[in-house]
Amino acid sequence: MTSSMPRRPAPGNVVALVVALVSALAAATLTQGPRTVSLLITNGIVITMDGSRRIVSPGAVAIDGGEIVAVESAGAAAAGYRGRDTIDARGAVVMPGLINTHTHAPMVLYRGLADDLALMDWLQKYIFPAEAKTVSPAFVAAGTRLAALEMIQSGTTTYADMYYFEEEIARATKAAGLRGVLGETIIQFPVADAKTPADSLARTERFIKEFAGDPLITPAVAPHSMYTLDEDSLKRCRALADQYHVPVLIHLAETQDEVTIAEEKHHATPTAYLDSLGFWKPGTLAAHAVWVDARDIAILTRAGVGVSHNPESNMKLASGAAPVPAMQAAGLAVGLGTDGAASNNDLDMFEAMRQAAFLHKLVTKDPRAVPATDALAMATIDGARALAMQDRIGSLEPGKRADVIIVDMSTARQTPMYDPVSHLVYVTRGDDVRTTIVDGRVVMRDRKVLTLDSEAVLAEARRIAEQVKAAVAPPANVAHQREPRRRHREGLPR
Ligand SMILES: [Zn+2]
Repeated sequence: MTSSMPRRPAPGNVVALVVALVSALAAATLTQGPRTVSLLITNGIVITMDGSRRIVSPGAVAIDGGEIVAVESAGAAAAGYRGRDTIDARGAVVMPGLINTHTHAPMVLYRGLADDLALMDWLQKYIFPAEAKTVSPAFVAAGTRLAALEMIQSGTTTYADMYYFEEEIARATKAAGLRGVLGETIIQFPVADAKTPADSLARTERFIKEFAGDPLITPAVAPHSMYTLDEDSLKRCRALADQYHVPVLIHLAETQDEVTIAEEKHHATPTAYLDSLGFWKPGTLAAHAVWVDARDIAILTRAGVGVSHNPESNMKLASGAAPVPAMQAAGLAVGLGTDGAASNNDLDMFEAMRQAAFLHKLVTKDPRAVPATDALAMATIDGARALAMQDRIGSLEPGKRADVIIVDMSTARQTPMYDPVSHLVYVTRGDDVRTTIVDGRVVMRDRKVLTLDSEAVLAEARRIAEQVKAAVAPPANVAHQREPRRRHREGLPR
């Protein structure tokens, strides 16, 4: 009872109390010894990608449950932590898992189906018809398993996706142990899982409710683009995202044709048109942003929009070169993406880093453009910023989720190594990733994927490819290009 307690304890009592507390704490610390954590990765070159770009070598990362609890020198970690599981990363880089800010995971099943075509031809003559005949829940689930296998094997731990039957994608992503920002594609014409944009919006709302609060899946609203949706649908997409406080994923200004369409229909650039609808807000990711001018960049910067740069897709489809150095100079968060595998043709983010660095050196005629450290940031912390997830992922720092990869640096191709950041961008391939950890869970260890039956995933993909071949007319690259050349060579009539 307060009334019976003395107002102020006698000074002697306070001293005794403090002494007792201090000795009790000291005793507890001594008897506790090193803290036991679920996983200790030690002896590696730890590239943190934190605010000061700290590199600790030999360093250690202590992980408890799904969270990073310490990043320090291997010596300090040996004294302070004991791992229930330990990984010796000697000769390897330990770094944040890669973040692919734009893809369409199940399109791995169309890998190489039609190459060497302009975007609109490629989409309208091959991809959209192929999708109309083959996309189903089973197709999407199998495609996601194949994509997840490839992503885990090449060090991607988080990806942003827009496709159809997104709930199947989310389930397969969770089962594989990957992190995803996923949105059901909303588009004006009838598609495999919806007749109208209103159907897609209803599906999206159900999807958001199903995965709300999931530790790995962030549901998003994903309008395809300003040229494949009318004004009303675009506004409804924005309103749905606002209602549930979820991210928005959209393609933006991918080709010059899109700018022509926007200018003819709306007398504005695609970026300015969407701005006039109140579309741009923080938590929105614009994929490509190839054809943006200084005014567009200012609009996106002011609104706090993230950008996904997809150098390989943009080069392969000859869409153009996004003004990445200008966007970065304006303060935009620019992440990296592979785009769907049908326009890349793989999901290797190391290759995306290298191509981003090369592309901007070429177009600016300045070898200092997009240096290795910036390319690496785009695939990690800047990707996290572009997805507004920088408080959880993108760097190795205490308190962040434990998304970590271990990259082998001991092969002939990686030797000698003066600068690990240079090697990660200019030498490393996805195949060099040895171990992949997502949310504290080891999903690949020493190249063995633990969350998927690799052989079964590949067999399933090959089986589906037979159905794709049967459903789609001879691909353009075979029918229209190779055959006439062969006939010409062999003197056959054309
Ligand atoms: Zn795309």
